[in-house]
Amino acid sequence: MVGEDLIVVGAGPAGMTAGMYGVRSGLKTLVLEKGISGGLSNEAPEIENYPGFDRVGGMELASKIKEHVSRYVEIRELEKVEAIEESSNELVVTTDKGSYRTRAVIMSTGTRHRRLGVKGESEFAGKGVSYCATCDGFFFKNKPVAVVGGGDSAVREALYLQKLGCRVTLIHRRDELRAERYLQRKLEDAGVTIRWNSVVKEIKGDKVVKSVILDSNGVESELSIAGLFVSIGEEPNSELAAKMGVALDANGYIITDKSQRTNLKRVYAAGDVTGGVRQVVVACAEGAIAALSAYNDLL
Ligand code: NAP
Repeated sequence: MVGEDLIVVGAGPAGMTAGMYGVRSGLKTLVLEKGISGGLSNEAPEIENYPGFDRVGGMELASKIKEHVSRYVEIRELEKVEAIEESSNELVVTTDKGSYRTRAVIMSTGTRHRRLGVKGESEFAGKGVSYCATCDGFFFKNKPVAVVGGGDSAVREALYLQKLGCRVTLIHRRDELRAERYLQRKLEDAGVTIRWNSVVKEIKGDKVVKSVILDSNGVESELSIAGLFVSIGEEPNSELAAKMGVALDANGYIITDKSQRTNLKRVYAAGDVTGGVRQVVVACAEGAIAALSAYNDLL
């Protein structure tokens, strides 16, 4: 079994940064990623608040981070971690490709898209229901689409789709948006239609999505659309951590201290899976702190 000092689980911005800091501290470090590097930041149409970049696509930023950190650390993509167990003062990380012994682990497993949980959502997933405008928006050029949600992600997706030439309706369950003011102003300027106080009750269609049934303060209506982009927040990928005995908060996010230590010795967490302010700049910072904490504890 291969021996490492530090294994980082998940190669989003947090995990990639942790890997680089691990190696630069002198730790034998490996990053394991079940899919491709970048995590959900790959899906961000535009990032305008990562210092040093006026405006950069999420995928472009993630690929720049990957290119940079790969000078230091190996990222093994398409290798899924299935279990992490303690064994005589070490941790054994089992993946779908093999096993590793390691002295410390950083969990940077990120989040996944929250589902609406309404009739038609699973049936039409990939047939008009999407969770990523940058991935699928192109197929809906010049067509009517709706975005559900009132946060930064929903507004960004609505703006991206409008720019592509889609006719966009934003559906939000309240009468004010959660998104930052700057984005709200952009949305107003772009002339996106907003359906306030409205929830999606059902997604209808035949082979593909044709419409949604909305409930607006008890009044039902049908909105014809070709695509529905669900952007109602995220849920943490913390099941693996929970199985190990890592403490989670009431919403399932991993609890850490300021040094990114969890309740388990030599197990750290960084990035979106720890909740709080979910921004790429924060994820990178937490990844760096987690790796430096591991280094200090392993001295
Ligand atoms: P979010 O901030 O949690 O917003 C989720 C939105 O979906 C809220 O408006 C919420 O409504 C709505 N919602 C939740 N559950 C719903 C349901 N079952 N049905 C209908 N609507 C529902 O999530 P996010 O927009 O994905 O952002 C996540 C994090 O990433 C945030 O910290 C955000 O700041 C950050 N982010 C930042 C940027 C940026 O450009 N700075 C871009 C993307 C994401 P209520 O408002 O009524 O709760």
